Amino acid sequence: MISADRTALAQSIIDACLRMNRENLNQGTSGNISARFENGFLITPSGTPYDLLTPDGIVFMTLDGAVETGMKPSSEWRMHRDIYAEHRDAKAVVHAHPPYCTALSSLRVSIPAFHYMVAIAGGDDIRCADYATFGTADLSDEMSRALEGRKACLLANHGLICFDDTVASALALAVEVEALAHQYTVARRMGEPVLLNEIQMAEAITKFKDYRKQQS
Ligand code: 13P
Ligand code: ZN
Repeated sequence: MISADRTALAQSIIDACLRMNRENLNQGTSGNISARFENGFLITPSGTPYDLLTPDGIVFMTLDGAVETGMKPSSEWRMHRDIYAEHRDAKAVVHAHPPYCTALSSLRVSIPAFHYMVAIAGGDDIRCADYATFGTADLSDEMSRALEGRKACLLANHGLICFDDTVASALALAVEVEALAHQYTVARRMGEPVLLNEIQMAEAITKFKDYRKQQS
């Protein structure tokens, strides 16, 4: 019998998985979502259609990689674990294969400062991590490098990973990054986008810290 807290968090993971496929951010059993919980995290099981998930099928893992017996976590648990270990502020992680992020990642390009919204990921670009095979520690190492000072990155020839304070806000960040990837792809087709300079991006990053904070 799992606790009410764990059931509620697991259900929020399932809701986000269903939403990410409904909104074309991901397809089939690709992608995975997790949330920090107690001394570890809850994560989607490997290769399971999202509409078959139930809260007791969401796997609990500790940060040293121990899993509850009989459960098979996402093959990408290392990337999730390393984000929780390296980013104290990370409370939820979303990994997906969104069409435009994935297409750009196959060109091995970062998303540069073509739009101030790039600042949503924490800096003046959204980097593309170098390629490594899915589910490996090498992939997680490449991801960690690309996530320095950032909350989102592309994964070469693969997709997107990002983290935030809650499952819902991590999913919202994934939606924003996919929108940026789409806009940047369209702009590249039309010509050579003019990039914002360091000063313009620094101003945007400063303003971003206050954005969405309602006056109390
Ligand atoms: P899992 O089904 O094991 O979570 O893997 C999906 C995926 O996106 C691998 O990169
Ligand atoms: Zn993947």
